[in-house]
Amino acid sequence: MSKAQLLVSPVPPGGTIGILGGGQLGRMLALAAARLGLKAHIYSPEADAPAFSVAAAHSHAPYDDKNALALFVSACDVVTFEFENVPAETIEFISSLKPVNPSAVTLSVTQDRFAEKSFVVSLGLKTAPFLAVGSLDEAHSAFTKIGGPAVLKTRRMGYDGKGQAKVKSAGDTAQAFASFKNAPAILEGFVDFAYEASVIAARGNDGAFAAYDPPENAHENHILRRSVVPSRLSAAQCDDAKAIAKRIADALNYVGVLAVELFVTKDGKLLVNEIAPRVHNSGHWTIEACRTSQFEQHIRAVAGWPLGDPTRHADAVMENIIGEEAADWQKYAASGGVLHLYGKSQMRPGRKMGHITWLKTSAR
Ligand code: AMP
Repeated sequence: MSKAQLLVSPVPPGGTIGILGGGQLGRMLALAAARLGLKAHIYSPEADAPAFSVAAAHSHAPYDDKNALALFVSACDVVTFEFENVPAETIEFISSLKPVNPSAVTLSVTQDRFAEKSFVVSLGLKTAPFLAVGSLDEAHSAFTKIGGPAVLKTRRMGYDGKGQAKVKSAGDTAQAFASFKNAPAILEGFVDFAYEASVIAARGNDGAFAAYDPPENAHENHILRRSVVPSRLSAAQCDDAKAIAKRIADALNYVGVLAVELFVTKDGKLLVNEIAPRVHNSGHWTIEACRTSQFEQHIRAVAGWPLGDPTRHADAVMENIIGEEAADWQKYAASGGVLHLYGKSQMRPGRKMGHITWLKTSAR
């Protein structure tokens, strides 16, 4: 049992939220904190982390540097993260000194795809069929049981389609497992979904719960291209999606914003693909289209403040600006959409450089 300190009273204005990870999510969290009169202190091993330039303070050090972590923690009232693959030992260490949310327990579930999917099923929720694959023999037998096509995914550290391979035979599965250097994996049945959606929700440290309207998400090359609200989900499916997020958040005693990625099957079922224990790319439209953005909501939750109102007051389409597309910033700037650029100096292929949100204001 970790000696995590409980947050007994809210962090007052002027207080400091420590954020592990300095990418665009940390940057937008820092901006939201500033608007509430809170300071953000970003910790990142990256020298030119995009969040550094908008935060009140930053630490540039590796995640295993205990001295740097202790100094960072001493400057913060509470700690959170924008990146769920922060090493478990880092979170354990920080949890022994200051409240960290989401918790180390949540991370131990969500950092491992097998643990995560098993947890989701244990709550009575649906996923694609899956089996753990730890050896070449298991790669063969898992394919035989699940059937094809299927997707082999490493249990840890995969995101944006990294560490994933679509397989059509037992031989393919074994080959993919070997190409991942025999890293522990899961084999999942391939879901011929109608479309993808996600639900973004927040849980406060008093157990209060607030969910956003679930967006519909389109991916290209495994990277999110576009999120659209309202989605094609019916009102009943939206309620079901929110109930899925609540079930997961309550079971984890979760504090903060989480996203649950869903496959919507052709017969209307919602299958859980993944839990992201953080603010999520498919929730960026909440900045302009909701009374409280996902970023403000997360800061409120981890600071022990009341959750804000997630009501959506406009229809929205959010598109990512990826890699070289950012060279067209003047075109985006003139387009009438709300432009967010993350201040990244290098345009690498597949790198999320910014996003743009188009709004259609609906009746208030
Ligand atoms: P993930 O890293 O698990 O979120 O997967 C990234 C993307 O790959 C998903 O958003 C889907 O578009 C696709 N994908 C992942 N798993 C499956 C699956 N079992 N069946 C069909 N598509 C999948």
